[in-house]
Amino acid sequence: MIEAKHPNQRYQYCPSCGSAQFQQSGERSKKCSGCGFHVFFNTSSAVAAIIFDEAGRMMFTRRAIEPHKGMLDLPGGFVDPMETAEESLARELQEELGVKVNKMEYYCSFPNIYPFSGLEVFTLDLAFMVELETVQNLAPMDDIYAIEFYHPAEVDLEELPALSMKNIIKRLNERS
Ligand SMILES: [Zn+2]
Repeated sequence: MIEAKHPNQRYQYCPSCGSAQFQQSGERSKKCSGCGFHVFFNTSSAVAAIIFDEAGRMMFTRRAIEPHKGMLDLPGGFVDPMETAEESLARELQEELGVKVNKMEYYCSFPNIYPFSGLEVFTLDLAFMVELETVQNLAPMDDIYAIEFYHPAEVDLEELPALSMKNIIKRLNERS
C-alpha cells in the first residue's frame, strides 16, 4: 500500500491545466500560478451507527476492504454528495446489513484521517444512536464480512483503528 500523505504533498500538479506551478496556499489549499485554479482540501462527512442488542452489547463490523482490512469498525460510511447524514446512515445500514432503521438520534462527532489510495482523507464522523428493526440474524454484505457484539467497555480499542471510532467508544464509556 502507498504511504498516505497530506493532499499538499500528494497533489503535485494542477489538476486543471497540469502545471507544476501548483503551490500550497495556506494550510489546506493549493493554487496554480499558471491558470489560477485554487482547490481547498475540506473535510468529508461520514456517518457511524451506535447499535446495542438486548444484552447491552454494541454492534461492530469487520472490514472486508482496505484500509484496515480485517479490523473492527462501526457500521456506516461516507456521506454521498447532496445526501443528509440520516439518509446516508440509513442507506449504509441497508447496504451493509440489509436492515431498516426504526429510529436514529444524533449523538456526537469526532474528526478522523482516513488513509485511502495514498491520500490522507480528512473526515468528520457523525455518530448516531440507532434502533434497527432487528439485530438478529443479520448477514454482513458490501464492504464488511462479519458482525460482532462487544460491551463498549470490553472491546479491544487496538482492534479499532479509526481514531474517531475509538473516541466515540470512550465517550460512551464516560457516560456510564
Ligand atoms: Zn493550473
